[in-house]
Amino acid sequence: MSKQILTREQKGQAIADIDGAVKFVESQNTYVVKSQSKKGAYYVTDTELGWRCTCPDHEFRGVRCKHIFAVEVRFALHRIVEVKKIEPITNVSQCIYCKCSKIVRDGLRHNKHGDIQKFHCKRCRKYFTINLGFEKMKHSPQGITTAMQLYFSGESLRNTARSLKLLGVDVTHQTIYNWIEKYTGLMEKYLEKITPNVSNAWRADELYLKIKGNNKYLYALMDDETRFWIAQQVAHTKNTADVSPLLEKGKEITKTRPKTFITDGGHNFHTAYEKELYTVKGLRTKHIKHIRLQGDMNNNKMERMNGEVRDREKTMRGLKKMDTPILKGYQLFHNYIRDHEALDGKTPAEKCGIKIEGENKWITLIQNATKN
Ligand SMILES: [Zn+2]
Ligand SMILES: [Zn+2]
Repeated sequence: MSKQILTREQKGQAIADIDGAVKFVESQNTYVVKSQSKKGAYYVTDTELGWRCTCPDHEFRGVRCKHIFAVEVRFALHRIVEVKKIEPITNVSQCIYCKCSKIVRDGLRHNKHGDIQKFHCKRCRKYFTINLGFEKMKHSPQGITTAMQLYFSGESLRNTARSLKLLGVDVTHQTIYNWIEKYTGLMEKYLEKITPNVSNAWRADELYLKIKGNNKYLYALMDDETRFWIAQQVAHTKNTADVSPLLEKGKEITKTRPKTFITDGGHNFHTAYEKELYTVKGLRTKHIKHIRLQGDMNNNKMERMNGEVRDREKTMRGLKKMDTPILKGYQLFHNYIRDHEALDGKTPAEKCGIKIEGENKWITLIQNATKN
């Protein structure tokens, strides 16, 4: 029997169910959560920068710990996010020739690229296959998506090409770049129409990049709670670039605006905030210029994000243009494909109510993007 590993959310739920384990101390405006492993308690506070807890899991690793979950569950403060599932397409409802619905599955066709679902039409008697999104490709969906997975996990284009060769896929690194360009564009257009249910605290930062050997800055707008990377913008300068398009894009993608906008440094963020987020009436966003504190988890969080991209600098040497699909691909991988340990093994998209189903999330996304 395998031991079940509980997520932080499940552990929090369990703590919330224990009588007296979670209390609110009004005079200190703080929730007190009894420690489950030793004497004493942890203190959970709702701050402008989101939930804070005094436990090591939160302080040093920057994660939403079980104590925060316990408080949310106990006091019904949980953000309820409805989940939209994006399923793999293994079925079609019409004959591709006569458009009738009298079709049956006729097994799988095996070729050197793998398995493709075969159909037979009982009316026009024709056979056909579906290979949505990959119809005219010389290589298999598995080969193409493996290339993307390797590349966005940190391999260079050349190393990706070498690894594919071991799988019997012999392509140049330029071909891999072309695949990334083609499919990133396709998936991006599709995903832009699906609204992520983000929290009400957003964070912006700038990351340093080299494009064609020149220094550039990648501005990233992130949701603080789910780590969903909402929008990006590439600019020539640090601190002075007009970053209002970043915030404008953020509002467009999420169809909302945050209660808190957290930035670090640059005055350009404040100018953009005044233009895009500050309203004279109605819900007003508050801008917090975050001051760096040692061991500060919110700061750690952004630095980790910086780390993710910085680690890739070596392999991003090949960036040739400002609107490179590579950066959009990286955003997509971060949001929809990669599991994050700090999110209990979920993707930021799942935390925002968008779940990509199927064994190969790339294929599911490409199929749906093609169909729509
Ligand atoms: Zn905690
Ligand atoms: Zn037919």
